Amino acid sequence: MNHSSSLSIPSLQGAFSGRVIAPGDAAYDEARAIFGGGFNGHPAVIVRAADAADVVKVVKLARETGLPLAVRSGGHSGAGHSTTEGGIVLDLRDLKSLDIDTDRRSAWAGAGLTAGEYSAGVGAHGLATGFGDTGSVGIGGITLGGGIGYLSRKHGLTIDSLLGAEVVTAAGEIVDVSGASHPDLFWAIRGGGGNFGVVTRFHYRLHPVDQIVGGMLMLPATPETIAGAVQASENAPDELSAIINVMPAPPMPFIPPSHHGQLVVMILLCCAANAEDGTRAIAPFRALATPIVDMVRPMRYPEIFPPEDGSYHPKAVGKTLFIDTVDRDVAGTILDHLGRSDASMRVVQLRVLGGAMARIPRDATAFAHRDSRMLAVVAAFYDGPEDRPQRAAWTEASAGALNQGRSGAYVGFMMDDGEASVRSVYPDATWNRLASVKDRYDPNNLFRLNHNVPPVRQATA
Ligand SMILES: Cc1cc2nc3c(=O)[nH]c(=O)nc-3n(C[C@H](O)[C@H](O)[C@H](O)COP(=O)(O)OP(=O)(O)OC[C@H]3O[C@@H](n4cnc5c(N)ncnc54)[C@H](O)[C@@H]3O)c2cc1C
Repeated sequence: MNHSSSLSIPSLQGAFSGRVIAPGDAAYDEARAIFGGGFNGHPAVIVRAADAADVVKVVKLARETGLPLAVRSGGHSGAGHSTTEGGIVLDLRDLKSLDIDTDRRSAWAGAGLTAGEYSAGVGAHGLATGFGDTGSVGIGGITLGGGIGYLSRKHGLTIDSLLGAEVVTAAGEIVDVSGASHPDLFWAIRGGGGNFGVVTRFHYRLHPVDQIVGGMLMLPATPETIAGAVQASENAPDELSAIINVMPAPPMPFIPPSHHGQLVVMILLCCAANAEDGTRAIAPFRALATPIVDMVRPMRYPEIFPPEDGSYHPKAVGKTLFIDTVDRDVAGTILDHLGRSDASMRVVQLRVLGGAMARIPRDATAFAHRDSRMLAVVAAFYDGPEDRPQRAAWTEASAGALNQGRSGAYVGFMMDDGEASVRSVYPDATWNRLASVKDRYDPNNLFRLNHNVPPVRQATA
């Protein structure tokens, strides 16, 4: 049902402290764009909340009008959940407060901050909370999904550093959520996505992370370099995380032209250690082959998030799964599949997990895949509707070839895979607990534009 005609934009404009943007406004097209270029939603209204009170009002508006409600922080949802056709976008990007308590080593951060902005702010004090590999990703979405990145092996997932949050519930209440207050909700928001309410502020633990050794190392792509990079990651100290991308070399000026378009192993490295220890930890990667490009160097942690081009909106399809091993045979399969596609960009990404994130009990948070050894992502760019099915079939087949029988997936990397896939992300016990928390805090499924966990009542109806 379309209730957008029930919205009176002029009266909404006076009702919020933040900006109200509607079709026809000069700012509308820019405001409705999200990172993924494959999504082109035309919301009936976008409210850029200025504070938690605005968020409460938007939640009430969505309830009263029945319009779909999309919640947006950094706008990087791979499923396009942060926009909607004809609904309401609750845009949190202006919530950029950052209150740092260096004595207690914690920070309250507005949900509109990006990982890069947050890291630069706390990094000025030689402190950090781990997020992912990309600075423009919002702390909102990545935290609620779990948060796997450069510090996961040393300090755990992002959620393992989450001390609490301020949440606006579907009933329009502002609640403080932590281990001591609404512990069921605190458990659910650590891995259960945006199902349970709108987080306006996150309270994070800060870790002393200042000098690191990090950057990009590019090697020729052979079964030996791929399997060797995985083995080096497994043998590395917890301080080191490697994100191994097997992909065609992009036509970047720092890559020799003879490699452009050829398959390479692009490894993003981060070792949270001083120059000497970090360089020693990275040596086994450098020893795998003569590097095509070696940009790994001592740096301050926030520099691991270089400036990005805001006009970059790739259209991508992808599949994600957990796997156990990448030996030379599996590496050969990866190269074989990448060789079968002519997509302008196609990638198999491998992240060796373990370390601190694996030392948390699996039922402590809604992210339950603590014993998973490796995260794999298969993705391809497409140009438009004409080649999307072909690219999707390739990602499906390539991910199928990598499947080693592990169940579950990382919700943060899911695309729009449908209800059955969302269900398969979570083990039964986690799913049932999520559904009962949903029942309690969002029984009418107001927050459904997400990797949805329906309330028990709705699921059984
Ligand atoms: C280029 C790129 C790199 C990535 N790298 C990593 C990585 O290294 N590690 C990793 O773990 N993930 C990574 N991701 C995945 C990323 O964590 C998820 O896509 C995440 O949801 C994006 O968060 P966002 O706030 O930018 O997105 P949005 O699109 O703004 O939000 C995504 C969804 O999360 C929910 N949500 C967001 N904020 C809130 C909030 N404050 N309250 C309630 N619900 C909310 C909503 O359902 C929303 O639709 C990457 C994604 C991209 C596109």
